[in-house]
Amino acid sequence: MTTPRTANAAISSRKRPVQLPPLGKLSEPQIRGRDCVWCSITLAPGRVVDLGEQYARRAGQRFAWFPRACSRCGKEGSS
Ligand SMILES: [Zn+2]
Repeated sequence: MTTPRTANAAISSRKRPVQLPPLGKLSEPQIRGRDCVWCSITLAPGRVVDLGEQYARRAGQRFAWFPRACSRCGKEGSS
């Protein structure tokens, strides 16, 4: 039996998937979610937008990463 994959209840639900910058352009702290994926500032606690689990390919390998954004960048697209 297979269990259907239900999406985790996200804090902020988006209608469109977030367009993230290519991994090759990101620094290690950005990939780790310490810095904003877009403006690369170091994220302050409480002002972080979690973009959720993302999948990317690097060197032919698929892996998960957890990008985060500052509240300013993460606000784009939300109403
Ligand atoms: Zn930002």
